[in-house]
Amino acid sequence: MDLNADYKMLINGALVDSDQHIDVVNPATGEPFAQAPDCSAAQLDQAVAAARNAFPGWRATPIEERAALLIKCADAIAPLAEDIGRLFTREQGRPVNFAINEVKGACDMMKAVAQMRLPDEVVEDSEKQFVEKVHKPLGVVCAIAPWNFPVNLSLAKVTPALLTGNTMVLKPSPFTPLCTLKIAELLNEILPAGVLNVVTGGDALGPMMTAHPGFDKVSFTGSTATGKKVMASAAGDLKRMTLELGGNDAAIILPDVDLDEVAEKIFFGAFFNTAQICVATKRMYVHEDIYDALRDRLAAIAANAKVGDGAEQGTMLGPIQNKAQYERVMDLLEDAKSKDLVVIEGADVPNNGGYFVPVTIVDNPPEEERVVQEEAFGPILPMLKFNDIDDVIDRANDSDYGLAGAVWTKDTEKAKDIARRMETGTVWINQNLMLRPDTPFAGHKQSGFGAEFGMEGILEYTVPQVVMMAK
Ligand code: NAD
Repeated sequence: MDLNADYKMLINGALVDSDQHIDVVNPATGEPFAQAPDCSAAQLDQAVAAARNAFPGWRATPIEERAALLIKCADAIAPLAEDIGRLFTREQGRPVNFAINEVKGACDMMKAVAQMRLPDEVVEDSEKQFVEKVHKPLGVVCAIAPWNFPVNLSLAKVTPALLTGNTMVLKPSPFTPLCTLKIAELLNEILPAGVLNVVTGGDALGPMMTAHPGFDKVSFTGSTATGKKVMASAAGDLKRMTLELGGNDAAIILPDVDLDEVAEKIFFGAFFNTAQICVATKRMYVHEDIYDALRDRLAAIAANAKVGDGAEQGTMLGPIQNKAQYERVMDLLEDAKSKDLVVIEGADVPNNGGYFVPVTIVDNPPEEERVVQEEAFGPILPMLKFNDIDDVIDRANDSDYGLAGAVWTKDTEKAKDIARRMETGTVWINQNLMLRPDTPFAGHKQSGFGAEFGMEGILEYTVPQVVMMAK
């Protein structure tokens, strides 16, 4: 398989091109370096029909066999993690080592999810009654992924959906289609035709999919704004829905932390992947007693963090992934500067047409500023002072989002109490960015609908059926 050419869609077990194509741009240069097919309406119909035709056979395949095939899929991807990682860097921008880690981590996640089994049970088997509860697959899943974790977030949909007996049409982001297409090529050697179909295309393809009557469920990861459109367009035929959406996650840092120990971790939680993470720390509330000391440490780390082409050795943070996102982040930065907020910029960034933004800390801006209220999805972090726990929890919770949050302190009982009062689906204590295949990842409020991972995430691809027999 040539990872650097021949990007084809996977429809009904065949690798297919299309008449039209979309450019794939390297965000470190701003230049296109490859093209991906732009799926036509007729090709989408073919993909949906293929998934529908494959559904009865796949549903009837025992779960042990489906799981074994999914583990085989992970085993086919893992040895290519380094090559896929290099392609990942070209299309997504992330430094190569971190890109390789995503591919490897996605394979581990696939294997872990493939071990899980549905909680089917006999509820009663008495002289009078036999009652059984089982979980049946929904049918054909429409899966739509974003560009920030293109491999992991795609496979996080493929694995539970196929494990539970559904078939799928998957669409990666138009900004990062290539790794997903190559992974589909690999999986096509293992999965029966039509079970997994992968289509790529421009802005028209997502809405065409969510409105398509051939789907039974939509699993969508992306922004809250798009999530609302997805939900509206799927209402016509009441498609089942899982939405993993945006966040504006708060970290609360108490005065007893050991700054030397935690500063790097806190920096990483805010800026890894150039801060393009749904669960990155996006508002940092720091107790006033340690505020200046932590700000100065973070500023020093920022001054030394190399921002550049992810393909170059020593790069810690790559570019913003695409031009539109770059413009949104620059707009937020200009807004902060125009209001004379105190802006601390880190290391210089290349000036070569790539979408580079310096690591930026905004020093104690007013709570109502855009830089605090909006999800930046780029390396601009507002640091805010607090001196009262109840007040800071209120400020952290005062958001339409509710994805994740973090508490940093040596006082573990106090930390657990704060965590339980936070209105988010995940709360980390003295760590961040950790997700597990065996616990649900669910956005509260407008950060989501339903869950991924854990048994809750698996059940999202099923519908319960109860069989009752009188004896
Ligand atoms: P986006 O909403 O712009 O796009 C996501 C996907 O939806 C892409 O594949 C896109 O082509 C498609 N799409 C766009 N418009 C559509 C429409 N009207 N109908 C159907 N599909 C459509 O998001 P993005 O910019 O790719 O990703 C960044 C956002 O994703 C951030 O807000 C981030 O917080 C969020 N995110 C959430 C999670 C999570 O698990 N909660 C994970 C990663 C990213």
